[in-house]
Amino acid sequence: MAQLTFLGSCREIGRSGFLVEDGSESMLVDYGVKFQDPPAFPDMISTDGLQGIAVTHAHLDHSGGLPRILLRDSDLTLFCTPATRDLSVILLRDMHTISKGRVPFSRKDIMRVKRQCEPTSYEETIPLGRRFEITLFNAGHIPGSAMVSVRADGKRILFTGDFNAIESQLNPGARNNLPRHDIVVTESTYARRINPPREKIEQELIETIEMTMARGGVVLIPAFAVGRSQEIMCILERYGFTRKYPIYIDGLARKVNDILMRHPQYIMSPHTFERAVSRVRVIEDHTDRVRAVRRGGIIISPAGMLKGGASHTYFKMVHDDERNSIVLVSFQIPGTPGAELLARRKVTVGRRTFDVEADVFYHHLSSHSDSRGLLTHLLNIPGDPLFYIVHGESESCDVLAEKLKKNGRRAVVPETNEMFEV
Ligand SMILES: [Zn+2]
Repeated sequence: MAQLTFLGSCREIGRSGFLVEDGSESMLVDYGVKFQDPPAFPDMISTDGLQGIAVTHAHLDHSGGLPRILLRDSDLTLFCTPATRDLSVILLRDMHTISKGRVPFSRKDIMRVKRQCEPTSYEETIPLGRRFEITLFNAGHIPGSAMVSVRADGKRILFTGDFNAIESQLNPGARNNLPRHDIVVTESTYARRINPPREKIEQELIETIEMTMARGGVVLIPAFAVGRSQEIMCILERYGFTRKYPIYIDGLARKVNDILMRHPQYIMSPHTFERAVSRVRVIEDHTDRVRAVRRGGIIISPAGMLKGGASHTYFKMVHDDERNSIVLVSFQIPGTPGAELLARRKVTVGRRTFDVEADVFYHHLSSHSDSRGLLTHLLNIPGDPLFYIVHGESESCDVLAEKLKKNGRRAVVPETNEMFEV
C-alpha cells in the first residue's frame, strides 16, 4: 500500500511539498519555500529510494527548495514543463540575491534545476522508477503551470498545484474533463472569495488608464514578474494601448518576457504576446526610469506588492502628483506596502512614510480560481475522489472542506507531516 505525507502548505500558503511512497521507492511533488526570516522549507527527507521530483509550477512557494534536494543526489531527476524549468531558475536566482545568500544552497546549485530536469509535456505519461507514473495537465495558473497526476499502487492521485479554471489574456484555462482520480490534493487560496468577471476587471483597468492619460499623468502598475506583468501587456495590446501610449517594462519581468518568447506553446495567444513584447519599451537603468516618468505613460514594474525592486523608485517619483495613478493588480498580503497603500493611502519605504496624492486603484486580476470555480472544477473530477485541502489560510482550507462535504464528498484538512495510507 502506498503512503502520502504532507510536508508543507498545510493550513498555510508556502513551502509546498508532498511525498508519495510505495515500498522502497518514493517521489516528491513540489518542494517550495515559505518566505519568513529565515526562509522555511519542508522537512528534509531521505533521498534513498527517491525516484524523482515533479514540479507543478515556477512560483517559489512550490519550487524554492529544489536546489536543496537536488544537491544531495546528482542522479535525481526533475519533471516539469520547460517553461517551469526556465522560470524557476530565474526566480531562484532572484531569491538567492535578495536573501543575500541566507538560503541553504549556493548560486551554482541553482543550475541543477536546469541540468537535472527532464522537460515534460502536458498529457504525456512518464514512468518514474518501477512503481510510479506521472502525467502533467495544464493548470491555467501561470505559463507552464501543471497539475500533477501520480499513479501509485494502482491508485491515481491528483496534485492540483495552483490552478485557474478560467482563461485569461495570457493563459488558457485549466484542463477540463480530467480523468478519474482516487485522491485529489487541492489548493484553496480563494475558497472564501468571489472574483468579479474578468472582462469587467479588464474594462475597469482600461478606464483607469484612459482617465489618467487624459489628465497627463503616469500609471504605475506594480506587478509580479512572472505572469501578471505579461498579462497586463497582453491586455494593453488587445485594447490597442501599445500603439496609443508609451508602455515601459522594468525589473525581472524583462527576463521573463525573453523566456516566454522561447515557450510560446504555453501562451493563450502567442501572436498577441509577441506583438506586445515588440512594442513595450524596456527600461535599462535609472536614467531610463526618470525619463519614463517625465514623459508619461504606463509603467509595469515588479514587485507586485510594492515590496521592493524598481517599484520603489517609481513610487517615490509618482506618489505626490494627483494626476498620477497607482494600480494594484494582485492580492496584497497584510503588512506589505501595497496593503498599507490600499488601507490608508500611505506607504512606508525604509524609515520614511509617504502620504500619497496620486489616485490608488485595485483591479484584481486573479490567477487562481475563486470559491465557485474551485468547487465546480473539483466536483467535476470523476471517481468520487477523497479530497485533501492545502495551500490556503487555515479558515479557507476548512471552508472548502465543508463545501465539498455539503456536496456529499469526503474531504480532509491535513496537518504538517501527517501521513495517510493511499
Ligand atoms: Zn502559484
